[in-house]
Amino acid sequence: MERRESLRALAEAARYDLSCACGDSDRTRGPLGQWIYPAAMPDGGTRPIIKAAQTSACERNCSYCALRSGTDRPEHSLAPEEMARAFVEAHSAGLVQGLFLSSAISGGPVRTMDQLLATSEILRRRHRFRGYLHLKIIPGCEQAQVERAMALATRVSVNLEVPGREHLAQVCPRKDFDDELLRPMRWIARLLEARKTNARSHTTQFVVGASNESDREIVTRAHDLYENLGLARAYYSKFQPVPGTPLENRPPTTFLREHRLYQADFLMRKYGYASGDIPFEPDGNLSTERDPKQAWADIHPEMFPLEVNLADREELLRVPGLGPVGVDRIIDRRRSSTLRDAEEMGIAHHLAARAERYLLFDGRMIQGAQLRLL
Ligand code: SF4
Repeated sequence: MERRESLRALAEAARYDLSCACGDSDRTRGPLGQWIYPAAMPDGGTRPIIKAAQTSACERNCSYCALRSGTDRPEHSLAPEEMARAFVEAHSAGLVQGLFLSSAISGGPVRTMDQLLATSEILRRRHRFRGYLHLKIIPGCEQAQVERAMALATRVSVNLEVPGREHLAQVCPRKDFDDELLRPMRWIARLLEARKTNARSHTTQFVVGASNESDREIVTRAHDLYENLGLARAYYSKFQPVPGTPLENRPPTTFLREHRLYQADFLMRKYGYASGDIPFEPDGNLSTERDPKQAWADIHPEMFPLEVNLADREELLRVPGLGPVGVDRIIDRRRSSTLRDAEEMGIAHHLAARAERYLLFDGRMIQGAQLRLL
């Protein structure tokens, strides 16, 4: 019963971490009280995983965090043996296929990381678990520990939480942005590049609105991580005030802000936009009125209309309403015939209606379609 209660509490402690690509929306309870999440895998599929923290007792004091030191709440921990056994029981029962293992910091970063590594060693060696294992890299741990984590895990993550050191100093005064966060990310990038690890990717998370950071700062940081440190995904978690923390009276971040950041992120990862291509409002944030792709098109009238039969893939990807799948279909169709109408693009009607205002079809604009110029 005690282990069951601890696991339930430790799963709760890990629920705010999105860097394993799983949120609360589709989670279910397992028989030990643990939450089971559908998580995105590096191969693109989805598998049920347990998300849990090794301990919820933290000696750091990040001002947005429910686990920060000095709060009056029960603390839970599981020894590596117990955590491994809890996972193996759920795995053997066919409930889950993977584990996301994180931790609050207790006894210093090195000892905390050692606990995660010990759990992982038990799973991999004693229980011969070969499946999905996502390990949190504890800020401030040692290089050799990162190497060991990447030999054991399928994926690792370092959560930056904020885009720069000034912001970190505001919300996590006991964390060092360069030494404890960026430096391990560089180690990870080097190891991935050398292809000497079992881990195939790394991710991060930003807590949006915990500091007074702008969207521009977050997007610029994320783009730098994609370009220079081989980051696979950044996740954006809207700030929600937690009672009893210094930020309990700060307004929550809106879903729309988080959503706009995901849209901008998608443009950088899938459409070839640089961070400098993403348009921001004068206050440095993304528009709440228009999605970033529409906003870019609106301030670049010189790019349109594009001849749909001649434009290259990158140009077509800049057209509102056209995504990678639609663009590939257009390119495929125009190989065999000249496209003379929006319907001939072979994409959903509402997307074609949005895109046709930016396109010429064999030299003609669709009648009634109006290029939106600001
Ligand atoms: S290090 Fe900061 S964010 Fe992580 S558990 Fe501790 S207080 Fe929370």
